[in-house]
Amino acid sequence: MGFQVSQSNKQKKVKPFYGPDIDSVVDGTNVSLPLVNPPDVAGYASWLVNHPSALDTFDSFTNEAKGKRVVVFLDYDGTLSPIVEDPDKAFMSAEMRMAVREVAKHFPTSIISGRSREKVKEFVQLSNVYYGGSHGLDILAPPRAAKSFDKKENEVAFQPAKSFLPAIQEIAIELDDTIREIPGARLEDNKFCISVHYRQVLPEDQEILKEKVKTLVENRPEFCLTEGKMVLEVRPSISWNKGDALNYLLDTLGFNDAEDVLPLYIGDDRTDEDAFKVIAGRREGFPIIVSSIPKDTIAWYSLRDPSEVLAFLLRLAKWKKSETSFFK
Ligand SMILES: [Mg+2]
Repeated sequence: MGFQVSQSNKQKKVKPFYGPDIDSVVDGTNVSLPLVNPPDVAGYASWLVNHPSALDTFDSFTNEAKGKRVVVFLDYDGTLSPIVEDPDKAFMSAEMRMAVREVAKHFPTSIISGRSREKVKEFVQLSNVYYGGSHGLDILAPPRAAKSFDKKENEVAFQPAKSFLPAIQEIAIELDDTIREIPGARLEDNKFCISVHYRQVLPEDQEILKEKVKTLVENRPEFCLTEGKMVLEVRPSISWNKGDALNYLLDTLGFNDAEDVLPLYIGDDRTDEDAFKVIAGRREGFPIIVSSIPKDTIAWYSLRDPSEVLAFLLRLAKWKKSETSFFK
């Protein structure tokens, strides 16, 4: 039996509570989330009962994962790196890089980000992980036939929205024109997804910006609009999300048919919920939300912020340290 949310988990002692991350609330990091008024110590503590800390429940995790094959999936922004004002400066720390490298030595590890695949690889700078960019619309992995996670050579790109590329470039130009007059608005071309960041837009201009982008996308039915943390994302209207990317990677790495596989996914934003949903549907695995405030989520476990993600990854690597490295 895999590691699932159970009554016993819900009754586990919650870790000491340090209060919500006031800074992230004040600077707007999480203002788009369904949060309660800070500081809501009791609210967070009761939320933790249903989404226990993955650090506090680590022993249960190792018990459940013993003898199983854990496959690791990580989001990037807000998970491995802090959310910052300038999206081009969302660097991960050297400690985090080292921790991810260690984890990837012991578990097949993929990073699935909304950024372009090239951009997230540039940030992460690791060769022993797989990369999925544009929310999984651009994945570099071994061909399905390889069925082996230890052969990083011969990787092929899987790009289910490739035929949209000319239209994406067109809408990027239109979006650029549309947002130009709004100070602080930033366009980021993530190849298969165009992001409009409004973290630096004055509060009174944010609704105007959203309305403009919404109107533009409404006139282009081949695109859809989603919203993340202070970012609007314009994506091709195809049925493909981070959950599909997780399934694709499990399949192509040779794990989807196996019964002893436990996917572990850590992410902080709405698009990560699609991956949590896939794991919840399997009824086995470790969907972990990164949040320092109570929020609606399908994830079963939680970590407060990237510093706790770091601590979790270090523990994960340490637990498996004696295993043979997958990438030599
Ligand atoms: Mg994120």
